[in-house]
Amino acid sequence: MTNAPLPLIAGNWKMNGLHNESMALVHELAELHMGLGPKPVDVVLCPPFTLLGEIAAYLSATKLLVGAQDCSPLENGAHTGDISAAMLRNTGCACSIVGHSERRRDHGESNGLVKAKATSLLANKLTAIICIGETEEERDGGKTLDVVTEQLAGSLPAGAASSNVVIAYEPVWAIGTGRTPTSDEIAEVHGRIRELLYEQFDYDGYAMRIVYGGSVTPENAGEILRVKNVNGALVGGASLKAETFWPIVTAAPIPASAVAHP
Ligand code: PEP
Repeated sequence: MTNAPLPLIAGNWKMNGLHNESMALVHELAELHMGLGPKPVDVVLCPPFTLLGEIAAYLSATKLLVGAQDCSPLENGAHTGDISAAMLRNTGCACSIVGHSERRRDHGESNGLVKAKATSLLANKLTAIICIGETEEERDGGKTLDVVTEQLAGSLPAGAASSNVVIAYEPVWAIGTGRTPTSDEIAEVHGRIRELLYEQFDYDGYAMRIVYGGSVTPENAGEILRVKNVNGALVGGASLKAETFWPIVTAAPIPASAVAHP
């Protein structure tokens, strides 16, 4: 018998959010979070780099967490425009998304690069939220399980554990489209990821969180978050407004034997 992991709901703001509107949203979310009481669910906001420091400082007295959307695999030096994991930690981040399909698509990021980024996050004591997921063509070609297996194997860093890695299954065709897989389809992929994590990490593989991402809304969150082996959600569009993000947070079912992550 193993303890089920605490749910994680992460908001990926992508390239959205100027200062004033973003701080108003953060203020609203902080108030809602205080009203949540002791409900054990981890909530992470992933704003653009420009707002990380201010939001992390603002939320430092709360239990809301702040994460980045990407990080460099390199420690420091002559890499114009890049932001290192050490810098993220220095701003007060707890984690960073890596390998989002938009970065794999727009910047040609390979599994190897995603792994190097995750390695740098772990070395700097940050949690890596590693995104994997198939394209529509791959799903139609019956390749979904092979694709996520290959991406997982290629992206997981050495030293990965349930305390420092979250896997985000995000079918590329579901991101920002309003289309989602069926509950059975989500269960199939999360089940395979769980098997692979168990093979690699033994019982710690049961504690590692696997979150679903792709057109999660207040309307479908309750059903998706109850699918077996779904331990939370990575939310894009719906995370930009409190009235659509917060119902997703409160929809997360809390496992009876939930364990907190450090
Ligand atoms: C995402 O970008 O990670 C995402 C899941 O986006 P959306 O919720 O808008 O589909």
